[in-house]
Amino acid sequence: MAKKNKSAFAVEGEIIATEEFQKSSMTQKLNWLRAGVLGANDGIVSTAGLIFGVAGAGAKPDAIFVAGVAALVAGSISMAGGEYTSVSAQKDSEIAALATEHKQLRDNPEAELRELAWFYEQKGMSPALAKDVAEELTKKDALRAHAEAELGISHEDHVSPTAAALSSFVAFAAGSLLPLLTATATPWADLRIPFTVGAVIVSLGLTGFVAAQIGGAKPLRAIIRNVLVSLLTMGVTYGIGMLVGGGIPA
Ligand SMILES: [Zn+2]
Repeated sequence: MAKKNKSAFAVEGEIIATEEFQKSSMTQKLNWLRAGVLGANDGIVSTAGLIFGVAGAGAKPDAIFVAGVAALVAGSISMAGGEYTSVSAQKDSEIAALATEHKQLRDNPEAELRELAWFYEQKGMSPALAKDVAEELTKKDALRAHAEAELGISHEDHVSPTAAALSSFVAFAAGSLLPLLTATATPWADLRIPFTVGAVIVSLGLTGFVAAQIGGAKPLRAIIRNVLVSLLTMGVTYGIGMLVGGGIPA
């Protein structure tokens, strides 16, 4: 693959440009995957933690099931709501910035042209070239050029708050289902807790690994960190469940 790139570069610069472009759209896809993996990770850890807290207090299986379902539903809605709010806020601020830019372009095109050229000079172009580039891009699509150079945003692809919320919801719910199922549906009641611990460790090892691959980090460290955090969560909630549960009059 690397060899192919090299020869492509030697033969034709255009091919490299195409590959870079594909790479950047790949990065966007990976951002979605990353959000999904992190959402699932949250679902696993928080639901397992809650189940262990209730189990530590000596709850009966049906109570554990109800608590697990409540954790799944509440967590998924909360994640989706948080995502919706934050993506909406980002979208609103981008739209407001574009509107301001639009107004400035209409009211003061000369100053805006100089400003755009200045941005390209900051990137290392000579003043003459920066002026030419700014003029040409202004002719083509001034708002787009300003959005990219000044605001660092593309004025076409806003992330949809609804899509972001929906995917967070699904990711968290999917993660939650795992400890919920092992803790309530494992046929041998005695094995429910160890099965759940095992399933949580394996699945968090997997989400840690995928997250590390996406971020280009060392997988082993990410896996260990992820698993340790979850063991700590389950241990702490189990312990607190035992403490608090012991104090509740039967
Ligand atoms: Zn501007």
